[in-house]
Amino acid sequence: MAERAGATLLAEHPHRRLNPLTGEWVLVSPHRALRPWQGQVEPVLRAERPAYDPGCYLCPGNPRAGGARNPQYAGTFVFDNDFAALRPDAPEAGVDVDGLLVARAEPGVCRVVCFSPRHDLTLAEMATPGIRRVVDVWAEQYASLGSRPEIGHVQIFENKGEMMGCSNPHPHGQIWAQRSIPLIPMRETATQAEHHRRHGRTLLGDYLALEEARGERTVCANDAFAALVPFWAVWPFETLVISRRPVADLAALDDAERDGLADVLRRLTARYDALFGISFPYSAGFHQAPTDGEPHPEWHLHMHFHPPLLRSATVRKFMVGYEMMAEPQRDLTPEAAAERLRAVPEDGRGGGA
Ligand SMILES: [Zn+2]
Ligand SMILES: [Zn+2]
Repeated sequence: MAERAGATLLAEHPHRRLNPLTGEWVLVSPHRALRPWQGQVEPVLRAERPAYDPGCYLCPGNPRAGGARNPQYAGTFVFDNDFAALRPDAPEAGVDVDGLLVARAEPGVCRVVCFSPRHDLTLAEMATPGIRRVVDVWAEQYASLGSRPEIGHVQIFENKGEMMGCSNPHPHGQIWAQRSIPLIPMRETATQAEHHRRHGRTLLGDYLALEEARGERTVCANDAFAALVPFWAVWPFETLVISRRPVADLAALDDAERDGLADVLRRLTARYDALFGISFPYSAGFHQAPTDGEPHPEWHLHMHFHPPLLRSATVRKFMVGYEMMAEPQRDLTPEAAAERLRAVPEDGRGGGA
């Protein structure tokens, strides 16, 4: 009876859901998602882009701002960001006036990772071996930047699409490595540590076991990774990619697991593109153990995808009003979003290098 009342609550009535990774809540209003989805699948419209763009600062052989020139790279290419938000030589200084005016110097490194020499591809359009090369680069960068004594956290992320403020369509991501553990990873460290202390297992390992028993929020999976719409998702089509083995970081993945991650990323991003028939915008990034020199048995590697789109290629979700002042809110339930993502094909184009 309680289980049934709970199911009705989640599908039909206003309620709040807890994000156990951050301790934050999201308000869900399923009764407002009145229009039933008709099950139509849009053809993916591809903007025709050249494989090489002489005006692109990320294409092989091209000049960048500041006078550097890219090599004729054939796979991936990593370089220090020419307009870095963090610099390794930040002077040691601090401000503290009565605990109210507080500031600290923050040294760090910002890098750009080109996923492919091809200007016209995205992760969704790359073949799995090409994505696997990117996984290896992410793991290497995490390990090498994280081993530096002044680096306590390595944030790997991708901002895709003009809607997310990314002006260059060349497939690339960024790495910001810094001394401090930033806000969201710090929260996730605390919640995962508490869960691990109580249960002796990782929070996301336990969560993934629950999701696999239910299946209603799973999007796609293989032997090494699963992609699902989290129970507490804020963005309409937000997903979480979780490793089956509770490893703390990308560098700890074995060969088969790295192939598995590449496979799930290709399939998930191809489903995103198929959803509204466009190259789907998102911000995505990995969360993994801080590199602060402490042991982190609580940490469980995962990747967040936060896409802004709500109903179509042009209708996006805005975080305004109540959401700016109080907490996030959504109408479409995470279960309905997962059903939509499961219903679209994942074969994509997948022919690219
Ligand atoms: Zn380019
Ligand atoms: Zn996270």
